[in-house]
Amino acid sequence: MIDGSLCSLAPLRFLCDEMLNSLAQWLRVAGYDASSPVQGAPDRQLVDLARAEQRWLITTDTDLLNFTIAPSYVIYLTAQDEQARLKELTLRLDLDWCFAPFSRCKNCNTPLFAASEWEIQHFYPGASALDAHKVWACATCRQLYWEGSHVRSMRRRLEAMNDWRRV
Ligand SMILES: [Zn+2]
Repeated sequence: MIDGSLCSLAPLRFLCDEMLNSLAQWLRVAGYDASSPVQGAPDRQLVDLARAEQRWLITTDTDLLNFTIAPSYVIYLTAQDEQARLKELTLRLDLDWCFAPFSRCKNCNTPLFAASEWEIQHFYPGASALDAHKVWACATCRQLYWEGSHVRSMRRRLEAMNDWRRV
C-alpha cells in the first residue's frame, strides 16, 4: 500500500494521464470514476485537477513526481506495458476489479443507467431485439452496453485481474 492522504478516501477516484487511456478504460469498466485530462494539458494543471477533485493521478511520467504534493496524489507506475501496469496498480492499491462492473461508461466515465426500450431504439436503431432489462446506456455519448459476448469477455478479464490480488 502506498502512503498518501487519499488512501482513506472511498471510493477510489482516478485521473489517468493521456498515455494511459486504455488503463483508464479498464478502471471505468470496473466501475471506478476515472477521468482523463484534455490532451496536452500541462503537468501543473494535472496535479491541480487531481487535488481539486481528490483523485489519484496515475502516470508513467517521472516529471509529475517533482511536485511537492506528489506523494499525496500521484501514483507513478514503473511497468513498461499495459498488462504489467494493470498488475502493478492492482498490487499497490489492492484494487478490486469487480467493484461495480458496467456502472460507468468505458468511453467517457459517465455513470450508466438501465436503458428502456425507448432509449435502445433511439440510441441504437435496429437493436430492438435486445432484452431491455439487461441494457445500460450512457446519456453523454449514447453508448449502449448489454450482456453479449463482448461484455462477458470483459467480465472474465476483470475476474482474471482480481486473481492478481491473491498471489
Ligand atoms: Zn459515454
